[in-house]
Amino acid sequence: MSRIVAIVGRPNVGKSTLFNRLTQSRQAIVDEESGVTRDRIYGKADWNGITFSVIDTGGYVEGSDDIFEEEINKQVLVAIEEADAIIFLTDVTTGVHDLDKSVASLLRKSGKKIFLAVNKVDNNSLISAAFEFYELGLGNPYPLSSLNGSGTGELLDDIVKVLPPAGVEEETELPRVAIVGRPNVGKSSLLNSLLGEERNIVTPLAGTTRDSIYTRYNKFNHDFLLVDTAGLRKKSRIKNDIEFYSVMRAVKAVENSDVCLLMVDATRGIESQDISIFSLIQRNNKGMIVLVNKWDLVKKDSNTAKLFEEEIRKRTAPFTDYDILFISAINKQRIHKILECIEKVNNNRKKRIPTSELNEAMQEAFRAYPPPAVRGKNIKIKYVTQLPSYSPAFAFFCNYPQYIKEPYKRYLENRLRENFDFTGVPIKIFFRKK
Ligand code: GDP
Ligand code: GDP
Repeated sequence: MSRIVAIVGRPNVGKSTLFNRLTQSRQAIVDEESGVTRDRIYGKADWNGITFSVIDTGGYVEGSDDIFEEEINKQVLVAIEEADAIIFLTDVTTGVHDLDKSVASLLRKSGKKIFLAVNKVDNNSLISAAFEFYELGLGNPYPLSSLNGSGTGELLDDIVKVLPPAGVEEETELPRVAIVGRPNVGKSSLLNSLLGEERNIVTPLAGTTRDSIYTRYNKFNHDFLLVDTAGLRKKSRIKNDIEFYSVMRAVKAVENSDVCLLMVDATRGIESQDISIFSLIQRNNKGMIVLVNKWDLVKKDSNTAKLFEEEIRKRTAPFTDYDILFISAINKQRIHKILECIEKVNNNRKKRIPTSELNEAMQEAFRAYPPPAVRGKNIKIKYVTQLPSYSPAFAFFCNYPQYIKEPYKRYLENRLRENFDFTGVPIKIFFRKK
């Protein structure tokens, strides 16, 4: 189940500063692990071991003051529809602003969990001014300073209380598959090619409300759930041109999936938004398959696909162990290949390697190239075991876990991938003291 908190508010109140503060510590760790570049619009927060996604609506709004109101209101409406909780950020130094009032009136009607936060309360002398925001009718404000962090703890304490229960990943019997990518890349076309018009293949699952976001695909011996088919089919013109909306949907779809089909547009090449979605999938440790769509439109020679592949892997390095398929959603080209790939990646993600087999393969790797000594201390890895997690994670036991550096971790990951097929799945590696 997704757990998404959106930060809304007018420009310059400090949304991105707050976003950085909420996601920083966690981001730093994740980035070190995977080497992916961080982007400001989506991040994971961790408060006392409870994690949730944070989305900053800033950075989308451009233009003059009069366009602001309309643009901000649009984003607020999307946040109301899609987020689990909303932080409405205001600025104590400007006092209650007209734009704050119009946002507040939308939020009051929403029925969502709203946290009214008053930012830039850098010292106690500003606290009484912060309570003036009570007039917005959204309860007691949380005075805080995104810059120095004061007050953010109280806010986080209350946010994690209202989020849906987390921790364990939801387990469905069938793998859940999300189709993600930028607007117009061909997601709905692929969905239509998969599901077709034939009624008997499309079996919406009855029962709980949550089921309604999945559609079962059961054909050609392949059986899985497609995530958020309603969202892909029912396109609204207004929402579609809000980039924030597509980011929101992508985050939700990825969080609710086991395997993701990341579509990129062959006629445009790989772009920075594609990389953002890639890292979203990677950070959530979901299965990854890259589909280069509209391949029918590309003028090609014998080298074109290879160059395309190289370019994509170069951009996503160091994670390069995934399949790239060249498809045409409207011509139904390589649909079967996609189905086989989904099954393979899902199996790789669920794969459990017995400890004996794992050590047999990896002892050789420790011997051939031991971790470099640090301050005269020889580092010895004794053994490795796979952790009982939803996606592949390994613990390497050694005498000085704190001295093992990123390059060696990557070396171990590469040896794991050479010995066992983990195509399409991010791997987590931990070092523990023996
Ligand atoms: P956004 O447009 O809402 O994303 O706002 P930014 O995060 O870009 O912040 C706008 C300005 O406010 C920047 O100059 C920040 O340094 C400043 N700012 C953000 N948070 C605080 C705070 O807690 N205290 C003070 N004094 N300044 C802040
Ligand atoms: P979405 O916004 O990602 O759901 O994209 P759509 O499925 O709505 O597709 C956007 C446009 O691209 C439509 O005009 C499609 O007909 C076109 N399109 C999608 N897939 C292909 C393809 O494989 N080849 C070609 N030539 N056009 C495609």
